[in-house]
Amino acid sequence: MKLSRFYMPTLREAPQDAEIASHKFLLRGAFIRKSASGVYTYLPLGYRVVRKIEQIVREEMDRAGAQEILMSAIQPKEIWEASGRWDRFGPEMFKLTDRHDREFCLGPTAEEYFTTLIKDEVKSYKQLPLNLYQIQTKYRDEKRPRFGINRAREFTMKDGYSFDLDREGMEVSYHTMYEAYEKIFNRIGLDYVIVQGDNGAMGGNMSHEFIALSDTGEGVIAFGGDYAATEEKAEVTYTVQDKARVDLTEVTTPGVTTIEELAAFLSVTAKDCLKAVDLMVAGEPVVVFIPGDRTLNMAKLEGYLGVPEHDILPMTTEQIEAMGSVEGFTGPMGIDARIIVDRSVTAMKNVIVGANKKDTHLQGASYGRDFEGEDGGDLLVVEEGDTVPNSDIAYAFRRGIEVGNIFQLGTKYSDALEATVLDENGKAQVIWMGSYGVGITRTVSAVVEQCHDEDGIIWPVSVTPYHVIITVVKNKDEAQMALGESLYNQLLDAGYDVLLDDRAERPGVKFKDRDLIGIPLRITVGKGAAEHRVEYSTRKAMDTVELHADELMARIK
Ligand code: ATP
Ligand code: MG
Ligand code: MG
Ligand code: MG
Repeated sequence: MKLSRFYMPTLREAPQDAEIASHKFLLRGAFIRKSASGVYTYLPLGYRVVRKIEQIVREEMDRAGAQEILMSAIQPKEIWEASGRWDRFGPEMFKLTDRHDREFCLGPTAEEYFTTLIKDEVKSYKQLPLNLYQIQTKYRDEKRPRFGINRAREFTMKDGYSFDLDREGMEVSYHTMYEAYEKIFNRIGLDYVIVQGDNGAMGGNMSHEFIALSDTGEGVIAFGGDYAATEEKAEVTYTVQDKARVDLTEVTTPGVTTIEELAAFLSVTAKDCLKAVDLMVAGEPVVVFIPGDRTLNMAKLEGYLGVPEHDILPMTTEQIEAMGSVEGFTGPMGIDARIIVDRSVTAMKNVIVGANKKDTHLQGASYGRDFEGEDGGDLLVVEEGDTVPNSDIAYAFRRGIEVGNIFQLGTKYSDALEATVLDENGKAQVIWMGSYGVGITRTVSAVVEQCHDEDGIIWPVSVTPYHVIITVVKNKDEAQMALGESLYNQLLDAGYDVLLDDRAERPGVKFKDRDLIGIPLRITVGKGAAEHRVEYSTRKAMDTVELHADELMARIK
């Protein structure tokens, strides 16, 4: 695509209400435009990213044996009444009435609809298992649409549904989808964790959320962390307990060697707002980080840890900086923290709480329902991002963006809508279901949250709208334009998605746009064009090398 003809109205400034990087850069880079609160248009660049993500989802769903269909976004009231969700969904559901006074909703999800679709035609166990999905616009009248396409009122979701004869079948289907989701988010390149969720309005008895780690996320995840210092560096490992897999999944984050890196890793926002408390517990040193603007209740900490106050050494920011490294702070920490609560987050849902030992977790915990903050007696109240020592771990809260969610539904919907099949013995059995969602458009924003710098987006190759951008510095220069066009055609022939910036704009404008829209590979055709010399760089490293145009193809591969 030639930029001289491309619809890419980039903006210098982001609108005031754009609070987070993805919202700002997607607007400024001409990926999206707002049409109403929580309702967005996808411009050419944005729609290409959406389709790349859809394609990855499609390929992995198909590979896992699911089949794509497309149902309407308009669903009849009756099926929602049958499941009891017409009322339970409440004001989040967009409802409408036709000219004959029939009531409908704009589908926020489609468990009832898919069940209705198959129930009259799937009559025998031989037709099972069955897994159908769609990539369809969903509507939710969110109380607080925010962060652009991250929490929208109209968004694209891949929603899939599995149908099995019995519980065992449902569990197999669920496991297959679990693995397909791992492949999807691995391919997209997201840094994510999987946590066991709270089934909430969906019903059923097992669910997992796929959560892209990001400070701007609205979900809160608790991690158990472990400090292990080696001679060269200190490493922080954290553990996500995942009951479905029984074993603990160990994730190591290498390269954390300084207080700053550790603070960044733990999502403690700025190093200036850190105090470290050096605790000697049972002869072992322990570190607790506390944002400086919050006062630590020393008496409470003392009582909780069972150490005298003189063993607690508060450190100033300067001291931490002087220290420069977390080497020397090692476990085991010999303290038994049970529950860690962020008292400021009252709507905290789906949190894992407990000691970092098998079977000592409460998963899918909900603040208020399952545990309380401040007044909870022996609870140690900490703020998000703090770490707290316990028997062998320290905890950290991190925020994340829910990009996918899978559910074992059991027979909730098939019971309500009377979806049965005849088993081997000719006996009617209620179908066992699972449901599986990926927030396609939310994933676009999650990728940007994780992949950007101050100048703009840095697309991972997997979902980038274009692979390569060729910038012709002076479009009036014949040699430059000829070389630009020739490289453009070569790259197109080689199967790349290519942008040619042939606009009559100043070089500065072209370079700024190029950084903003985040195309991963860049070729600059400028003064050296007559000698067939060009510059090559990547958006990530911004590391320019000069080379002969003939060397380019080898370089780009
Ligand atoms: P959230 O907790 O963020 O409100 P949800 O749990 O209500 O999401 P699900 O019903 O699990 O959402 O829907 C499946 C997926 O659809 C979610 O994991 C998310 O990625 C996406 N999604 C849900 N609501 C929105 C929204 N308002 N805007 C964009 N994507 C959304
Ligand atoms: Mg929701
Ligand atoms: Mg949720
Ligand atoms: Mg969910």
